[in-house]
Amino acid sequence: GRCDIVFLPPCFPIVAMENPCLTFIIASIMESSEFLLIDVIHEIAHGWFGNAVTNATWEEMWLSEGLATYAQRRITTEAYGEAFTCLETVVRLDALHRQLRVLGDNSPVSKLQVKFDPGVNPSTLMNLFTYEKGFCFVSYLSELSGDCRHFDHFLRDYILEFKFKSVVAQDLIDYFLRYFPELQDAAVTQREGLEFERWLSGCGPPPFEPDLSAGATLIGPVQDLCKLWGSSAPPDRQAVTPFDLSTWSTFQVVLFLDRMLDHSPLSHEVMGSLSGSYSSLFDGLNAEVQIRWLQLVVRNTFYPDLPRIRSFLHKHTSRMYTVPLYEDLVAGVMKCIAVEIFYQTQQRLHPNLRRTLQQILFPSSSVTANQNSPAPPTVAHPLPSSSPTPAATATASAAGTTA
Ligand SMILES: [Zn+2]
Repeated sequence: GRCDIVFLPPCFPIVAMENPCLTFIIASIMESSEFLLIDVIHEIAHGWFGNAVTNATWEEMWLSEGLATYAQRRITTEAYGEAFTCLETVVRLDALHRQLRVLGDNSPVSKLQVKFDPGVNPSTLMNLFTYEKGFCFVSYLSELSGDCRHFDHFLRDYILEFKFKSVVAQDLIDYFLRYFPELQDAAVTQREGLEFERWLSGCGPPPFEPDLSAGATLIGPVQDLCKLWGSSAPPDRQAVTPFDLSTWSTFQVVLFLDRMLDHSPLSHEVMGSLSGSYSSLFDGLNAEVQIRWLQLVVRNTFYPDLPRIRSFLHKHTSRMYTVPLYEDLVAGVMKCIAVEIFYQTQQRLHPNLRRTLQQILFPSSSVTANQNSPAPPTVAHPLPSSSPTPAATATASAAGTTA
């Protein structure tokens, strides 16, 4: 067989799409090293989970995304090691918990089985929970099986059983319990706090998360550096010298910046020192790194780096690299800059994104949500109707996603 990848221009509305044998990926991610790697592997995993066996209803997208994300991480564990995979998972689960803090534990968006009622925009059904809570449920099933390699065999046989068919969650669960009859005998579906019904229709965080301690070798240095930069005064230069970020992986740098965003607001002195220490690294071609640094710049009103926001938003016109920055600009004191850049670039934006940005910039003139309304502000990160504080808005990791 043959599997090709076509790289699409910066205005392509989503990060990637798993068209059979011809994966679409947005070109903007080509400089983002491991993010590109993960996207390619994820879309290939959809060849089995999503394309060969398809979710029968849009209300159960997790059957495609949760299983594809699990398969993607099994592949990266074998190919790039457990530490790398745990680090990537921590970045994503951080984003999930960040979103839960904004939405609250009772948000229906956090359910695996969502209800596609009239008036619900289908785009809201593609969110981080579809991917990461779905991944956690599949990881829990793997944990129940007792051995991830044993579970690999189960997944292979699941594909053979259901290939070229559409399935619902109950098909997967029934097949799982037939495959592991000892688990059915042990009534695993009813374990207190971990009931399958709670997994599927309960709100809130995943009832189980896999053990990610194998990522400590890569995550530990990030946590140590965050502690040094987390106080009101810049750290002693000698203390940060041993941390050579130029040798870090993209996911390490991204985790550092995500957690500094969580720490914001930062003092002007800390921002100045961060900029002086790392700006050449943060201002490279890696858009995943760059957008997080620019979100720090906006949320902390660090005027010396403002010109970089302008050039970034002129270059990047995809949803994932625009919406988080526009939301932060509007929530702070730089809305006029956002409006100016929008008018300069709007002709190059995809029509759906243009409408989304108009809703962010001019909310009072937006149409009330209805069945025909355009996509919500952030496809992979629906926000509550009330305006969140800058610190609670989307970070780049939650703003865009693969299909
Ligand atoms: Zn996917």
